[in-house]
Amino acid sequence: YFITFEGPDGSGKTTVSTAVAKRLQEAGIESIYTREPGGIEIAEQIRSVILDPANTAMDSKTEALLYAAARRQHLIEKVLPALEAGKVVICDRFVDSSLAYQGVGRNLGIEEVLSINEFAIEGHWPDKTLYLDLAPQQGLDRIATRQNKDRLDQEKIDFHLRVCEGYRQVRDRFAERMIVIDAAQPVDQVIADCVKAIGALIHR
Ligand code: C5P
Ligand code: MG
Repeated sequence: YFITFEGPDGSGKTTVSTAVAKRLQEAGIESIYTREPGGIEIAEQIRSVILDPANTAMDSKTEALLYAAARRQHLIEKVLPALEAGKVVICDRFVDSSLAYQGVGRNLGIEEVLSINEFAIEGHWPDKTLYLDLAPQQGLDRIATRQNKDRLDQEKIDFHLRVCEGYRQVRDRFAERMIVIDAAQPVDQVIADCVKAIGALIHR
């Protein structure tokens, strides 16, 4: 099974998805945790180019193409071989992130970003996506805490709100693949809900 975790910044994707992969492994279900952008050498190199704050001249379409490139390499080198070996692959972010962040956050359009990603993934969509749902304001509060700030600048707030709106559209569009998890709960409960949802999928 190919399972992705999505949700806005501050929703707890990394904390929750690493814990979930560990729990599955402990339960004797062979599984791996991996993340995007990155997860393998070439994709981590692309990640460092995308996320380097010194690269202020980065064009939005260039950024979207780099995410798609990193995604493809990670899929080919890591995700597909693990799936072929019968493992559960837990992936922190995938195409939905690009649809929300680049498609809506950066105003490129969901259709445009979807088309380059379809080229990149050749139909290898996740079996299920666990969406960590959090009210936009709560996400902002968590980002501010993480960055040790009382207030975020308006540009950052506006971007975050567009991303949340993007995710809302993505959830509607791919509703049959989405499992919505309440990310406002204590982290142990969020982890338990995710493990339960994956267990139901695997043992059905
Ligand atoms: O999830 P992670 O913390 O690794 O994401 C790193 C940063 O990249 C985040 O601040 C997120 O806002 C940004 N990002 C993005 N577009 C994506 C994925 C992540 O702008 N498609
Ligand atoms: Mg993270």
